[in-house]
Amino acid sequence: MIIVLRAGSTDAEVEDVCRRIERMGYHPHTIRGELRTVIGAVGDDRGKERLKSLESLECVEVVQPILQPFKLASREVRSESTQVRVGDVVVGGRRIVVMAGPCSVESREQVLEVAQKVKAAGATVLRGGAFKPRTSPYAFQGLEEEGLKLLAEARRETGLPIVTEVMEPEKVDVVAEHADILQIGARNVQNFSLLRRVSETRKPVLLKRGMATSIQEWLLSAEYVLAGGNPHVILCERGIRTFENSTRYTLDLNAIPVVKKLTHLPVIVDPSHGTGHWEYVEAMAKAGVAAGADGLIIEVHPKPEEALSDGAQSLKPDRFAAMMDRVRRVAQAVDRDL
Ligand code: PEP
Ligand code: MN
Repeated sequence: MIIVLRAGSTDAEVEDVCRRIERMGYHPHTIRGELRTVIGAVGDDRGKERLKSLESLECVEVVQPILQPFKLASREVRSESTQVRVGDVVVGGRRIVVMAGPCSVESREQVLEVAQKVKAAGATVLRGGAFKPRTSPYAFQGLEEEGLKLLAEARRETGLPIVTEVMEPEKVDVVAEHADILQIGARNVQNFSLLRRVSETRKPVLLKRGMATSIQEWLLSAEYVLAGGNPHVILCERGIRTFENSTRYTLDLNAIPVVKKLTHLPVIVDPSHGTGHWEYVEAMAKAGVAAGADGLIIEVHPKPEEALSDGAQSLKPDRFAAMMDRVRRVAQAVDRDL
């Protein structure tokens, strides 16, 4: 249920309503908007009608059910779009945020070179995997903690915040020590214990859509992070599996306007994994921005032909820089900056 407070309610009134919600066995989540404060009361659906009695309080305007199964992620609870802050970077504002870097961190030289070049081209977040989810157990699994240290060094050199994947609850602490944004990969979008654990860190979370998750399932995964008390969730559409096999996945750009309608969370697009081929990345990056995405995440490698993972979909730094100029023109056409 959402408890909508009258404009001008005091902090004491908000606290009083929260205490009453707790006494009824629900968890209150206070969302302060520009115009009014609403409190989402989440918990067991059975018996939620009891919360209606809060309407008798002076400060409560109305108590209404949240119709969507994802509650805190829903626009019903928060109509204003959420902005996720990572240092000076704002995801979900007017500016399109471009996260770029290698699929995997492979060496000090590789990550430092890419970091400098993507920064010069206008990227504001550095990506790079240290723990890699690989289909084959014989494939390169990532440099692990050594990779995290190299990313931290690249941040020191360039000032770019870092997004990197965490795959297991046991590794959340060590990844969170180095990362600015914790990436939950497509294969882990429904790893609910991992979602609860990253929620506890209160760090921004980049939640990729699974290759076989519906939009509703994806938003329910976001709900795990929000319900755990971490409001800093960024969604990422990265392609779903369909019958089409001329590209690695099918980048579902329908998802962008749908997600924008259903939730207040920012959403970015990953045209690298979505297509699986560097030649198609630019077209889908531009399409993603045109469709209303708040940002892009793009794989860039100094020598894609030698990459230890995802070389075929990685752009060379100069191609990335040229692409950025053209994506910027699309951003301007849809009233955004880049
Ligand atoms: C990645 O970002 O390199 C990655 C493994 O992505 P996904 O989880 O979308 O496959
Ligand atoms: Mn990759």
